Amino acid sequence: MALTPPCPICGREASSAIAGLCFGDKPHLPSAITLHGCADCDFAFTWPRDPFGYRDYYAAVANDTAQRHGQYRNHPQADILANLIGSRPIRSVLDFGCGGGGLLHVLAERFPQVRFLGFDVNANFPSDLPNLRFTDQFPQDGHDLVILSHVIEHMADISQIKALFDLVGEDGLVHIEMPDPKHYISVPQPHFGYYVDRLHINHFSQRALLKIAPQGFDVLIGGTYRMPYALGDFYPAQYVVLQNRRHEQAVPEAIDAYLQAEAQRWADIRAQLHGRRFFIYGFGDNFHRSLSPGGPLHGLEGNIIAVIDRNAATLATSSRSAFQFMDPSEIARIDGALIVCTVSQFSDLAEGFRQAYPNSEVQYL
Ligand SMILES: [Zn+2]
Repeated sequence: MALTPPCPICGREASSAIAGLCFGDKPHLPSAITLHGCADCDFAFTWPRDPFGYRDYYAAVANDTAQRHGQYRNHPQADILANLIGSRPIRSVLDFGCGGGGLLHVLAERFPQVRFLGFDVNANFPSDLPNLRFTDQFPQDGHDLVILSHVIEHMADISQIKALFDLVGEDGLVHIEMPDPKHYISVPQPHFGYYVDRLHINHFSQRALLKIAPQGFDVLIGGTYRMPYALGDFYPAQYVVLQNRRHEQAVPEAIDAYLQAEAQRWADIRAQLHGRRFFIYGFGDNFHRSLSPGGPLHGLEGNIIAVIDRNAATLATSSRSAFQFMDPSEIARIDGALIVCTVSQFSDLAEGFRQAYPNSEVQYL
């Protein structure tokens, strides 16, 4: 066993052990673990973590823990999810790792028009609601809302957590809830070091979770709360809801597409200005940007008679540009000519032009 194992999320060498813990023998589980941290991921994890061992452990205990509905007491969680379902066009909900299905039963009663599916390794029990179904078969993808409630802190293979995001449909949501390690200290349980064991093998921050989430999943809401709990009164929980925007373009491509559309949008104006000579009103960023490739003034520098600006005198001596500058007061020379206004448009600007240059045609950029 390496003294400093790699961080399961980023692969960097993790910290030396925060803690070393020993437990009794249990099939498939390590009897001695160390706890390590990754500062960059804001994350802690147990070691060793054999995914096959944990898989076999959960498969073995599944038959013992089948308990339909159970005693569902986490009303804050149900309220968070009900707000989500009630305020968005959600038609299908998957609870991945639904346990006894208590949460889904609460939600399915509240939203009879929404289809609910609960998956867990032992969830082959019937449902007494027409819009609620349980299965022990790995679910298909395409759900409007996927719930991962206290699931991913138990999963040894980070790539398997990443794969769960594929269950979320286009524009769909994933609600992920897990322990909040930063509040363990403020909600101690009756037993020594209760929050550190060999089943809670990932201690996430929101940053760590976002590092796992695939590109295109954006945060919708998130927070922390005290989850009602059977042992102590509460358990410190955190949740985050991500939206699947993977079908949208990545930021660089989105900006590229935007600028191409802008060039298209201004192509006609540029064509109209092509054969004409005109004054420019305003010597700011809008003007200079319009000269860029795709802009309405691109390649039309030679069509500009002069630039009208209040600082014409200063610009004429200090500006390194080749343009002529004129003060707006030289009305007689300007009026009647085409004026291309590059100043951001405020309500009184057009009226100002009508009064100062009544015979001029004004093109706004
Ligand atoms: Zn890391």
